[in-house]
Amino acid sequence: MTLWHEYLEAHARQRPTAPAFGDSGGARWTYGDLARACDALRTHLVNLGVGPGDRVMLLCENCCAAVAALFATSQLGAVAVPVNARMRAPEVDRILAHAKPAVVLLTAAASPDAAAHASRLGAQAIEGDFGRLHVVSQDADGRSHVQIPEGLAVLLYTTGTTGAPKGVMLSHDNLKFGGGASARLRDMTADDVVYGVLPLSHVFGLASVLTASVMIGAEVRLETRFTAERFYQALRSGVTLVSAVPQMHALVMQYAKEQGLDHLGSPDLRYVSSGAAPLDPDWKRRAEAFYGVALQNGYGMTEATAGICATRNGLGDPDTSVGPPLPGVDLRLDQSVPGGGDGLGEICLRGGNVMLGYFANQEATQTVLDPAGWLRSGDIGRLDENGNLHIDGRAKELIIHGGFNVFPPEVEAALNAHPQVVQSAVVGRPQGGDEQVVAFVEVAVGDEPTVSELRAFVAEQLAGYKRPGLFILTEQLPAAPTGKILKHVLLSHFADQLP
Ligand code: ATP
Ligand code: MG
Repeated sequence: MTLWHEYLEAHARQRPTAPAFGDSGGARWTYGDLARACDALRTHLVNLGVGPGDRVMLLCENCCAAVAALFATSQLGAVAVPVNARMRAPEVDRILAHAKPAVVLLTAAASPDAAAHASRLGAQAIEGDFGRLHVVSQDADGRSHVQIPEGLAVLLYTTGTTGAPKGVMLSHDNLKFGGGASARLRDMTADDVVYGVLPLSHVFGLASVLTASVMIGAEVRLETRFTAERFYQALRSGVTLVSAVPQMHALVMQYAKEQGLDHLGSPDLRYVSSGAAPLDPDWKRRAEAFYGVALQNGYGMTEATAGICATRNGLGDPDTSVGPPLPGVDLRLDQSVPGGGDGLGEICLRGGNVMLGYFANQEATQTVLDPAGWLRSGDIGRLDENGNLHIDGRAKELIIHGGFNVFPPEVEAALNAHPQVVQSAVVGRPQGGDEQVVAFVEVAVGDEPTVSELRAFVAEQLAGYKRPGLFILTEQLPAAPTGKILKHVLLSHFADQLP
């Protein structure tokens, strides 16, 4: 069995001078450099007593040292727990208490947020071929020897869109399946230059970007933190392939519009994809016109090592499905769930991408994963006659208003079509036995539409029961570090603006 890190070792032996990773801090590593960085970091980890099965938490933002930390951990048979350094202290502490790592590594040199956590946790700097990291050992009593399943490679926490993040156990085989599927889907070669703007602490960045690239031996240009301007510039300097969340595509288009730029105009860019959240049909159309290549939509989740389905559309294809399942993934729709029926059901899947389970949470594992290996996604969708999957929304976010089902993504798409709307999020608010449709709308600063304009705008597109009863306009919606909107906090976040 090939282990996750063995791909990088093979490239380091066979093509040591091939470019591997670069970052916004100016580091440029070949595959040989990456292997040497891992060797140097492993020595530190061994000295700190890290051994097989231990968890190594990596509080990071994207940089070369973070890549070395992931692979060095894997080489020791230990389990990497990548966590976005932009998480606040209580969020990090909850994950610390749950994952019980032996040590915490921090990319403090690359990220002010990681630096703040490093000083809070009393971490010490270490230096070597990997650059500079900070490290803190955790109390040995607190580590506790939890049973680790065979083949576990990483422990990855979910985004926390619908509740507290859950620790997903992904194996070496899961990562190879997810990375391999992404690489094949994108026809990747060692000549590709990948823009690594998705956080490595999220499954989309870890499996579809990092793992796929290392399996193929491509070059990855890591971006520490997304900004629309840097994204725009990076795509004009030789990048061939980029994956991002829909919100990033929307913000880049907003930036381009403000700058009066219609087209990206990059001859190198050949593949652009969107995933991790619903892709708005209007954004797809506008993004394709802007990038000059098709925008592929991929459906995935942490529990499925990113990829489940993906489109292979041509430029300008109006198809807004998430495409057919990836080879080796079986799909089934459970129509018996609330909101299901008539071909609509909860998406269940089986394949080499399905996680080993949730870490230290057998009860949650049993709720979503059955003994035959079927994973319940919590998403509601339907298959069309071409075998393409369409997602209506999440079961948890289904709004039942006046006895009718309202799926938020449809309402959000109607709102997002308005030129002065940047993005939006729609949730249900319990109200006297019913649920009110509430729209939180992020609007262009200085160019805001009025609520009555928005009300009239959606009324032209949506049946009465789907129209929001309440609109809250804002300059910024609360989002996870990937840019995904944190829907479960919206009602409390804006509590003072709700009547
Ligand atoms: P949590 O499970 O903690 O509430 P989360 O589900 O957002 O958070 P992720 O694993 O990052 O955590 O996201 C997976 C979910 O994202 C899927 O279950 C689905 O709801 C949504 N999603 C992913 N890709 C797409 C897509 N292309 N279109 C629509 N929804 C998508
Ligand atoms: Mg989820």
